[in-house]
This record gives sequence, C-alpha cells and structure tokens, in this order.
Amino acid sequence: MIVAKFGGTSLADGARFRHVAEIIRADPNRRYVVVSAPGKRCDSDIKVTDLLYRFQQSGNQADFAPIEARFREIVEDLGISLDLSQDFAEMKQLPHNADYLASCGEYLSARIMAAFLDWPFVDAEECVFFDEQGNLDEVKTRHALFEKLRRLPHAVLPGYYGVMPDGQIHTFSRGGSDISGALVASAMDAQVYENWTDVDGMLVTDPRIVPQAAPLRAITYKELRELAYRGATVLHEDSVLPVRRSGIPIHILNTFRPQAPGSWIVPRGEKPDGPITGIAGRKNYTAIQIERENTNSMVGYVRRILSCLEHWNVPFEHLATGLGSVCLVVPTDAMENCREQLKEDITLAVHPDSILMEDHLAMIAVVGRGMTGRPGVCARLFSALGGSGISVRVIDQGAGEMNVIVGVAEPDFEPAIRAIHREFFE
Ligand code: ASP
Repeated sequence: MIVAKFGGTSLADGARFRHVAEIIRADPNRRYVVVSAPGKRCDSDIKVTDLLYRFQQSGNQADFAPIEARFREIVEDLGISLDLSQDFAEMKQLPHNADYLASCGEYLSARIMAAFLDWPFVDAEECVFFDEQGNLDEVKTRHALFEKLRRLPHAVLPGYYGVMPDGQIHTFSRGGSDISGALVASAMDAQVYENWTDVDGMLVTDPRIVPQAAPLRAITYKELRELAYRGATVLHEDSVLPVRRSGIPIHILNTFRPQAPGSWIVPRGEKPDGPITGIAGRKNYTAIQIERENTNSMVGYVRRILSCLEHWNVPFEHLATGLGSVCLVVPTDAMENCREQLKEDITLAVHPDSILMEDHLAMIAVVGRGMTGRPGVCARLFSALGGSGISVRVIDQGAGEMNVIVGVAEPDFEPAIRAIHREFFE
C-alpha cells in the first residue's frame, strides 16, 4: 500500500489535477492521497496559501476574489458538480484566525480531488491533533488516522493542518503537507511514502552552484539528516521522523516526469560504489576563538565557556580545541542580540588572553555512508580544496565517518562545493 502526497505545483490548475488523478489511478496501491493547496502555475503566479494569508492580513474582500476564482476555474475545468459557494461564503466572513484561513487551500484542494476521483474526503480536522502549545500529538493522531482510514479502501486528505484541543484549526509550519503525508503513511504502515513534487528528486548538491549535479538515486535516513541539516532537501524536515521511525522508505518523484526514477530515502542502504552521497552547506557562521595559555590542564574550562553560550541561548555546532585554544562555530544569527554580552561573560568566566569573533564562515558537509572504513577520502577532499586555492578554516569529522565538515571563508563557499563535486562526481 502506498500513501502519496502531492505538492502545490502539482495541483496548480485543472489540467494538473487531472494529471495527478491519472498518476493516482495508474497504481491501485495508491490508496491514501494527501494534497497541498494549489501552488504557482508559472514563476510570476502566487500560491493559494499566500493569497489566503494576504486576505487574512488585509481583510479586504477584493483579496478573496482571486482565491475563489482559482478554485472555481479548477472545478469548472474538471467538469465536476461540486458546489463550494457555502465554503466560500464562510471563508469570506472575517475575522478569521490566520491558521484557519491558511488551511482552506488544502481543504478545498482535497475536496475537489476527492470529488474528481470519486473517493471519500477525510478532513484533517478529524484526525490530526495538536496540543494546547500547538505541538503535534503524534500518538493521538496516528490512532485517529488509523481508525478513520482502515475502514476506507481509498481516501483523499488535506495536508498542512489539524485541530487544537479547543477546536481551533492549527497549521504546521510552511510546507507542512509533507508532514501530514508522513503521518498518514506511518499510521497506515504504508510500504512506501511517495512524495510527488516538481523536481526529479534530490540532487547530489545544489544545482544553483553545480548545474550538472546528478539526482541521488538512494540515500539513507541518516545521510539525509546530515544533508538536510545543511539545507539540502526537497522535503519538510519534520516529515522525515514519523516515516523513519516506522522504517518506511520515502520515494521522491516528479509529477511532471513520472517516468524519472526519482530519489529513494531508505532506512538502510547497500554500500554504494562511491564514497560520497552528497554535498551541502550553509553560510553565515561565526567562529569564536578563545585563547589562553595552558588551558589543557584546567578542568572545567570548556564547560564554563559553554555555560555562557547556554545562558544566552546560543547553540554551537562545532567545537575544536587545541593547546591553549578553543574554537566554537555558531550560527551568526543566534548571537544577534547578545554578541557583546556573550563576549563579556566568557571573559569573566575564563579570563582568556584573547577572544575573537570571526564572521562570514561557511560550513560544508560532505556526506556518505560509503566513506566508512575507506581510506583516502579526506586526502582527496583536502587535495581538491587545496588544488583550488581554498584554505580550510575548520575541520570536523566524527568517528562515525559518515561526514566530514569543513569550514571555509564565505567567498570560497561555492568554489569549494564545485571543487569537491569535481573530485568525487565528475
Ligand atoms: N500550502 C502550504 C504552504 O504553501 C503547505 C504545503 O504546501 O505543504 O506552505
């Protein structure tokens, strides 16, 4: 049994709804379908969800017109007899809270798809639950989804939202229909969670940096976590956990090229031919360098520094120590309002000889399950960077040998990714 989730671009107009219905019908195992709100039809278009937020903010009835028109057009194009006038009337009656209005895109999308397929519509309001703080109640949700769906051979569900204990609609963060799909897949113990989007799957690296980057055929959940953390994913990051825990593979597919093999995210993968699965990275890090003579014999030195970070709620991502020096890599944004205070606190806590905050660092993760136990990977990596005249500022590799993280100056970020790609993939 397959649970299939279709993103907004896949459902941007009537023709695309029809095409998606064809994909659904092409495999009888696709039994439960989760849909997003209609997305952009072309680059200059506006997603329905954005139109809904705009309407909520402006309170201007004229801003509802394009929303209504989008849905009316889709219904007309599909030739179904679905009267949404009541729904539109209710949505137009302001004030509404933002989450309720934002959920309407998915709600209508699912109603239309259900009508077109002639399948039951199951409202997320009845089976996706949040607690008072707005955190997902996963146990209750899984149970409700299972109870609701096990009696139905097929169903269409809206993504992105659920309900709070007081009955108010609540949404996930943007792109959250991926999470809804993952919850359905996990509740129903699907063989596969298909995530249909508008690209051929994940690529080995960012195509804006390496245009010829190839699609990734298979990647393990662990590798995905490493790459996603550095900003390389086509999935909402919170969508991975429910399916990962249930050991369900995710298949990322392209609605516009259904014949393309797509990318598989699997619990465990065979040892691949090459050592590297993917390369990802992010800019905007700061290295905090703290120097003091003879720190290696001082017990509790690093703890005192880390307590200062904890006090100011600054997470650190890497920590390198040497004789007399500690270098912490932190996201620059996290220090936005406490930079000087943090510096002062560290000074008071450990009386360093010097403390330096160096911005504009980029961190690059080179990830691959094929690296484990394979000698020479780091040698190739550093030769590639050295050969391109790139100086490595920070190095981090755990004993797990599944990733090597290198920090470079921001202007070297793109050239470094290109050099690594050349070495391992070209
Ligand atoms: N429609 C919502 C958004 O645009 C949720 C989703 O598509 O996953 O963020």
